[in-house]
Amino acid sequence: MIGSKKFTRKVEDFICEHCKAEVKGNGYTNHCPKCLWSKHVDMNPGDRAEQCGGLMKPIKVVKEGKDYIVEQVCEKCKIHRRKRLVKEDDFGVAAEIQRKSL
Ligand SMILES: [Zn+2]
Ligand SMILES: [Zn+2]
Repeated sequence: MIGSKKFTRKVEDFICEHCKAEVKGNGYTNHCPKCLWSKHVDMNPGDRAEQCGGLMKPIKVVKEGKDYIVEQVCEKCKIHRRKRLVKEDDFGVAAEIQRKSL
């Protein structure tokens, strides 16, 4: 059975400011799946309330149970954030980050 094609979820496409990949938003996208960088735009996930706008660099990937978590640091304000990786993310890149952080 093919699911409904009617989505009401807010979809946001964006160009990654780090690797210039065109990212297709799915309503949950909060980082670039190609390089795992993101932009500091949320105070709480998805709220886009943060004024900083700095680029958030992935510094570490950790495994927590079944999930992989990428830890990012904002290059502008140095805040640390943790984001769960999703299946669309490039795990080769994640593995590389993990290797470098060891
Ligand atoms: Zn990117
Ligand atoms: Zn910031």
